[in-house]
Amino acid sequence: MKGKAGLFRPTTLAEALELLATLPDAKLIAGGASLVAMMNARIVEPAALVDLARIGELTGIVQSPTGEIAIGVMTRHCEIANAAAFTGTLSVIADAAKQIANATVRNMGTIGGAIAHADPGLDFPPAIIAAQATVEIASSTGSGRIPAREFFVDWYTTRLDPREIIVAVHLPKPKPGAGIYLKHARVAGDFAIVSIALSSARDGETHVAVGGCGPTPLSSLEVDTILSSSHGEAAVAQAGELLVALSDPIDDVRGSADYRRKLIPRMLHRALFEASARGDA
Ligand SMILES: Cc1cc2nc3c(=O)[nH]c(=O)nc-3n(C[C@H](O)[C@H](O)[C@H](O)COP(=O)(O)OP(=O)(O)OC[C@H]3O[C@@H](n4cnc5c(N)ncnc54)[C@H](O)[C@@H]3O)c2cc1C
Repeated sequence: MKGKAGLFRPTTLAEALELLATLPDAKLIAGGASLVAMMNARIVEPAALVDLARIGELTGIVQSPTGEIAIGVMTRHCEIANAAAFTGTLSVIADAAKQIANATVRNMGTIGGAIAHADPGLDFPPAIIAAQATVEIASSTGSGRIPAREFFVDWYTTRLDPREIIVAVHLPKPKPGAGIYLKHARVAGDFAIVSIALSSARDGETHVAVGGCGPTPLSSLEVDTILSSSHGEAAVAQAGELLVALSDPIDDVRGSADYRRKLIPRMLHRALFEASARGDA
């Protein structure tokens, strides 16, 4: 198959991996929401496309008997937004999905495409970090899982090798508590200027990730430890300061770097307030 160009439509994961291994310049296509726009703008010009849409094993949300949840990588944003499985601390996942763009994009885009694309303004990357997800990856030589916190490495760059396919996003059993995704954007549905993903369990365990404020989502074990022991004013202020220190925002048409830095502690405060106002955390 080496050197072949065109559109390939495998029906199994094994077939898709085989295609990637033998077509050196091929690119995966999922919903096409971002990739087709990049191809139209000639930012990427893949020699071949491997379409994942016909691989049934990559779609769907499955909860195991012990409560963990696996989201197949081809699951569309609209399905995640409406799924009943995301309760308690995992509400952050559905909350993020509901705020992506508009109904058209939510019907097209997949969670796999969103996290592989790794644009810092996207909604799923911080949400899956706050939810303590792991990302399952397959290649022709095997499969493995990477904690979401370690998956994003730079602007539009993840730990994925071009011959690998994301297969699923795995989430721990939801805990009683609250999962909140706050997105500050110019208008509803636009990319985030700053976003805060929060998972706050009733037993105190708290995880936070920030979107839009650097090449990758911001998260810190120190921040999570501070907020897991207290949501008091001093703890929240300290956590906010640490997140600002970690941030590396840019000035762009959506907002200045300084504006973004100012928003982080305020939005963290508001997310924690909303979590407690829901009465769950
Ligand atoms: C007008 C518009 C507005 C948008 N607004 C928002 C928004 O507000 N918030 C938000 O979060 N997103 C937004 N998006 C992006 C949207 O969420 C896309 O769905 C997402 O970025 C890409 O998903 P996709 O399934 O369409 O992937 P594609 O466009 O098909 O692919 C994107 C990239 O991921 C790679 N890829 C796809 N699947 C896999 C896989 N399983 N394994 C490895 N690599 C893979 C592809 O090769 C490609 O490089 C917007 C997009 C558009 C067009």
